[in-house]
Amino acid sequence: MRLILLGPPGAGKGTQSKRIMDKYQIPQLSTGDMLRAAVQARTAIGLQAKAVMDAGALVSDEIVVGIVGERIDAEDAKRGFILDGFPRTVAQAEALDAMLANKKLQLDAIIELKVDEKALLSRIEKRVEETLAAGGQVRADDNAESFKIRLDAYRVQTAPVSDYYAKRGVLKQVNGMMSPEAVTAAIDGVLAA
Ligand code: AMP
Repeated sequence: MRLILLGPPGAGKGTQSKRIMDKYQIPQLSTGDMLRAAVQARTAIGLQAKAVMDAGALVSDEIVVGIVGERIDAEDAKRGFILDGFPRTVAQAEALDAMLANKKLQLDAIIELKVDEKALLSRIEKRVEETLAAGGQVRADDNAESFKIRLDAYRVQTAPVSDYYAKRGVLKQVNGMMSPEAVTAAIDGVLAA
């Protein structure tokens, strides 16, 4: 099973990816997580990406395509994977198409979580509260200022990715405003179809 989860920040991609990961025993390939790990480890990529990420803007296509290309080749991704947070630009979608064609791999589903933009900031605020309550570290970009830039980046650079797949007739949409359980059930329905 190879799939892409699309949707704005706070749509529930991370939560749903984890559930799909458990159900299908495939890894969640989150470019945000990979980049945060690079920042933490102070690698060359991490050092380059940190300021851009903290501000809420997008890291260069070249860097992100490079890390996804390497990650897809890892042993645990041989049986499949969920791409979470990638592709985020049409150039990344094109690079992914080329990468998969080159590896003779096909995607099984591209699912977009449709959410009401007005609900997103409060979802992010809830994530911050829950992280703090659990004694975790809050993401540097989970604040109102960076969130606005992330949402703008989504509108301008990422929304066209949905059109890219819709034009090819391969985009499935799920109402992301339902309860997490109902969203999971709807995703299951798409994957079983
Ligand atoms: P996320 O965890 O998916 O919300 O990503 C957090 C941040 O990592 C984003 O705001 C970007 O700065 C960066 N990032 C993650 N994925 C990508 C991507 N596919 N392209 C460019 N930047 C990305």
